[in-house]
Amino acid sequence: MRFVIARLNHETNTFSPVPTPLEAFEPHWGQGALEAARGTRTAMGAFLDLADELGAQVSTPVFAWANPSGPVDDAAYQQITDCIVDAVARGCDAVLLDLHGALVTVTRDDGEGELLERVRAVAPGVPIAVALDLHGNVTQRMVENADIIVSFKTYPHVDMYEAGAHAGLLLARMLAGEIRPVMAWRRPPLMTHTLRSATDQGAMRHAVEAARDAEQEGLLGVSVLVGFSLADIPAPCLSVIAIADGDRAKAEACAERIARQAWGERRNFCYQSEPLADSMRRAREQASGPGSGPVLLLDHGDNCMSGGTCDDMEVLRAALAGGLEDILVGPVCDPQAVAELVAAGRGAHVVLPIGNKRALDKLGISRAPLVLEGTVRNLSDGRFIVTGPTYTGQPMDMGRTVVFDTGAARLVLTERIQEPLDVGVFACVGEDPGQASYLLLKSRMYRADGTIARGVRRPGRNLLGLQPVSIQPRAAPRIPAGRGHPLGSGMMHATEQAIIVRRLAVFVVALSWSRSRARTRLALGP
Ligand SMILES: [Zn+2]
Repeated sequence: MRFVIARLNHETNTFSPVPTPLEAFEPHWGQGALEAARGTRTAMGAFLDLADELGAQVSTPVFAWANPSGPVDDAAYQQITDCIVDAVARGCDAVLLDLHGALVTVTRDDGEGELLERVRAVAPGVPIAVALDLHGNVTQRMVENADIIVSFKTYPHVDMYEAGAHAGLLLARMLAGEIRPVMAWRRPPLMTHTLRSATDQGAMRHAVEAARDAEQEGLLGVSVLVGFSLADIPAPCLSVIAIADGDRAKAEACAERIARQAWGERRNFCYQSEPLADSMRRAREQASGPGSGPVLLLDHGDNCMSGGTCDDMEVLRAALAGGLEDILVGPVCDPQAVAELVAAGRGAHVVLPIGNKRALDKLGISRAPLVLEGTVRNLSDGRFIVTGPTYTGQPMDMGRTVVFDTGAARLVLTERIQEPLDVGVFACVGEDPGQASYLLLKSRMYRADGTIARGVRRPGRNLLGLQPVSIQPRAAPRIPAGRGHPLGSGMMHATEQAIIVRRLAVFVVALSWSRSRARTRLALGP
């Protein structure tokens, strides 16, 4: 038996100005891909373990993963996918792909759908199993061109390997003639905020619990994908995929039921924010209250793990305007400022413009850098080893890194974008995040559970209030709707559809780009 096993992962934020060339994937090819994937807790790692167990030969054309960022360069997508399709075309008994589900290129809305269609075309009849990220935006094309799709059931994602093992096991049973998987898919027109995709709370928890229950009751696999709404594509929405053994009606009924349940709880997938000035007031109150440790300010809107530039200065601007002091900030990516400060040297007193250097053209947002006066406190090569708990032991390289001290704030400035996933982002330049009064992280909320935020005052965190920016969606999600319910069959009354589309547009604006200190108003008010 011969399996083709490959990994192509990218969560595309089509509004992000951060480019995604081939180098962003740091792709490993052929034998290098096998070595890169083996032993990892990824879906591809699980596929390789399964192949070992079954004694199957493997062909591993590519192992490619990139940080979330803007649309993938077409040439990079072409090169990686050609490599996978060519490997399949050489002949195999099964295909196992570790994909994300939200890959958009400069000219394609549905990166995974096109790849799967090409794979099927060169190997008709060969079983295809796919593992997807929980944030995948599923399409008809993906469902039609795969036999098995299983997504993660956790966010933060701690079951990548398990999702791969699940998909792989179903494929193995299919090859052995034990089961005949049939998939059903539902996609209510429900765009969700990434801060509402945690699987340990709210509506998403309920949906995933329902999926697990259905598996307990005999479905082969049930996945709830929360979708990734920062994509201006026809349907960046929540999906449910149910797989039954030969019983299409059973799969359809399960997908329908869980999708309806999620739709019923749709308000819970919205995130309500407050004005930034209010957040700063709350932060000051917390700092003067009981307890010790820094108050955590999470600039989740400029989170590089959703395509943020990590150079937005509006939260720091508001914090300084709000009178906060002893703020540790970062990492802020500004290679120009780093070069200037490195040249000035440790101890130098400098006035310079920092951040806001990458305009968000697709959102019509462009702001002036924050001009700050301060002292170069420390310099480093920006390299550190992650102490964990996530990515433990992995080396990180932020490029040259500088601590710039303005008195009220100490900024950790880097040459490269780096998520503050570990205390090392500060420790490598001699800063201890636990000692600051305020810790301003460019992060999404869940990273607050990592070591970096240990000992923060109030476990409730201090998510920053961000005003929605207005975006006219390029294409509103289509609603295959019955009257009164967007999941039903038949035609929807025009007015009803208009109301839902309008509401969706509000979701789009509310959810689209949280780094939205823009003073713009909603184009479509609630
Ligand atoms: Zn994800």
